Amino acid sequence: MVNETMTFTNVKMQSALWERVILSKKNNRIGSAYLFSGPNGSAKEALALKFSAYLNCNESTMEPCGICSSCKRIIAFQHENHHLIVPIPSDKQISDSDKRNILITELKIKSNNPFHKISIPKAKTIPISIIRNLKKELFLKSVDSDRKIVLIFDAHALCTGDASSANAILKILEEPPNNTTFILVSDHKAELLPTILSRCQIINFPILQNDEIISYLSSYESDSELVDFAAELSEGNMNYAQRICRNGINDIMQIIKKLVATLMAYNEKNWRVFIQEYSRMANNNLNDYKFHFFLFQSWLKQANNSHIGLNEIPAFEEIIKNFNSKFPDARLDKINCMVEDIMNAPKNNFFMPIQLTNFLIGVRKNLLN
Ligand SMILES: [Zn+2]
Repeated sequence: MVNETMTFTNVKMQSALWERVILSKKNNRIGSAYLFSGPNGSAKEALALKFSAYLNCNESTMEPCGICSSCKRIIAFQHENHHLIVPIPSDKQISDSDKRNILITELKIKSNNPFHKISIPKAKTIPISIIRNLKKELFLKSVDSDRKIVLIFDAHALCTGDASSANAILKILEEPPNNTTFILVSDHKAELLPTILSRCQIINFPILQNDEIISYLSSYESDSELVDFAAELSEGNMNYAQRICRNGINDIMQIIKKLVATLMAYNEKNWRVFIQEYSRMANNNLNDYKFHFFLFQSWLKQANNSHIGLNEIPAFEEIIKNFNSKFPDARLDKINCMVEDIMNAPKNNFFMPIQLTNFLIGVRKNLLN
């Protein structure tokens, strides 16, 4: 039975970085704004939540206690002075009450699994209305002495469109309300306004180490072959490592095999299905879309390892041998760049069927070299 239940107060990773951020409270110099920046799955959100609990925990030494009334309310996302902002759909097709219900469900999952990525379908922006409401609440008088905390996940989503939300946040950061700390979290620092970056203490997260991932997954998953497979394939990304564990080796192999088969041989029907399927995914479920291409990218890396005489993951041995004998001169580096581009294409609002067609043709060209 898989049990992922663990709250963010128990997450012990990125220890060097954690010791550095908590110094600010110990030295009584808590900043008014931080940016937790780094690759997807490097425990930024989990540690941002933990840090927010730490700042308001009266029992904390090195860690938030997790059991005082402040910690408990934060873990349940019910602390009146903690505000969590995530991208939400601007789409009128989803009613406000539906958005709220999805968010409540997502928060419940996040509360039990700090590595769950909150995802509301079609959410790409943080609307200005949310920032206006936040501003009102922040400038209201606080009923107790707790620090007000604003967590903004996927903070780069402030800058989509005309960046009015980013500018509104900037105004608040320029004259921050008393006793308030902003913790912005983003995988895409370069997309944030330089003026926002200049207001933040930037904490750069490296990818997680294999042993950090293995030790965390092993706390609830007893199949050590699966844990090793997930850690190896996830390349330091805990979101993906968990997902690989949940899906199991067989399901993951199916996704990869199907992608590899489609890309290896031109087949009109397969290509059409691929283009339809991934265009739809790019539109409706960007997380799945990215995950699939991430798997393919990891697989490519394994194929490259095998090509240069390093060991590949055992589960891949056969399919990689077949691939390398068929395409001995394939330009894996170029294909890897193409995968990178196709992963980012939906974010750039490109027309996906054309992008995916070009991707198939380009990959084919580089396979045959
Ligand atoms: Zn506490």
